Amino acid sequence: MKWNIPSLEELEDILWRCTACGTCKEAYDYGPPPFSAPICPAGEEFGFEGFLSSKGKIAYARGILSGELQWNDALVDAIYRCNICGGCQSQCQLDHKPFIPEIIEAMRRKAVTDGVGPMPKQKVIAQSLSSYDNPYQGPRRVRLDWTRPFKKEGKPIKNILEEPAPILYYVGCTGGYNIPVRTVPQATASIFHKLGLDFGILGEQEVCCGSTAMRLGDAEAFQRIAESNLEMFRKLHEEKGVKTIVTSCAGCYRAFMKDYPMADEYGRMMEGIRVTHITQFLHDLFQMGQLKFSESLPWKVTYHDPCHAGRHLTKYIIDKEGTQLWAGAYVNLDEKDCLYDIPRELLKAIPGIDLREMRRIRSNSYCCGGGGGVMTGYNDWAQRNAGLRIQEGMETGADHMVSICPFCHYNLNQGAQGIGSKMKLFDLTELIDKAIA
Ligand code: SF4
Ligand code: SF4
Repeated sequence: MKWNIPSLEELEDILWRCTACGTCKEAYDYGPPPFSAPICPAGEEFGFEGFLSSKGKIAYARGILSGELQWNDALVDAIYRCNICGGCQSQCQLDHKPFIPEIIEAMRRKAVTDGVGPMPKQKVIAQSLSSYDNPYQGPRRVRLDWTRPFKKEGKPIKNILEEPAPILYYVGCTGGYNIPVRTVPQATASIFHKLGLDFGILGEQEVCCGSTAMRLGDAEAFQRIAESNLEMFRKLHEEKGVKTIVTSCAGCYRAFMKDYPMADEYGRMMEGIRVTHITQFLHDLFQMGQLKFSESLPWKVTYHDPCHAGRHLTKYIIDKEGTQLWAGAYVNLDEKDCLYDIPRELLKAIPGIDLREMRRIRSNSYCCGGGGGVMTGYNDWAQRNAGLRIQEGMETGADHMVSICPFCHYNLNQGAQGIGSKMKLFDLTELIDKAIA
């Protein structure tokens, strides 16, 4: 397969459009009441003017391309001190806006190709992906541990390679291997059972989506993994009748929706297959009247928008021919794929739920702090940042924080523990499972 993943050199023209204005420092809401609040976790931790946020990283990209900067430990460290959260991208209004995370990832790709990236602790991920097909150094058989309660209850989950089903539930490595968040696939499978849906999983044959490799700049590992997944999805469609792939993890969803389409074969491989996040999937059933809530949950909850299920799915409208402004100008954005409204609609539909919004939400959401390889590379920082987000949630008076990404869930939980907060973390599927009879 041929991949259309841009190199830093190919982005050179674009990255000179940053004016170093600093608008990417703050999230703005013009109200009423108006507010502004920090949006860049790297800027918060290491100092915006210390060139650790997007304008600084773009300055580094210029230096690397012009040859004025040579790789050294501090420079490599600086480009990996980033969650690739896209918070800066949401704030910037200049023509390179659609490409900001791409520029940072292209620098990482160059660092990997030049043999200096990723950071030492993150190299474990690359080794694990190559030995175990997951970033957690977990043996394949462990992927199935979360299914044990279903087997015990006499409701085993289908292995889709052995028994056909129209729905593939792609569990993801975080839900499979990370013990505290195995509740997410368990709630999802429980909902599917209650709704009488015919679904299956790949079990030990599931491999990582490749998102972590891509975010760390390891394009070679990403392509190898993505090609094997695309081939598997094609085979499942043709031989097992799979028409829908449902993901739990915002990172997997982003990878399938935005990274995989960079393959020239993507259209052919995915023909007849719809990829959807569990939130969208359940919202569709809710709208059709097939998902009904009967149990009350008298909880005060706040909702955390994961970057990968929110602003990462924004589509940017670029004036390609120069008919509206000039060729290459950023004209507007299309947020219809961003999962902003539907999780909130589902939450509000659950009887008893009192939804209390934080200040930074939707495209202004503040990253949990774990993404972009930070949880592995800089775990203390990831936890501190998650603590800041938990603090923001506590200010709403909520005692539960809900999200739609097991990875955010895990890191936010670490953050809550780190600051001694009693905030309880839940995935939306866990609430839905409790709310249906
Ligand atoms: S990335 Fe955009 S908002 Fe940030 S300094 Fe550059 S032009 Fe300004
Ligand atoms: S992607 Fe996120 S962490 Fe990275 S520079 Fe932008 S706002 Fe900061």
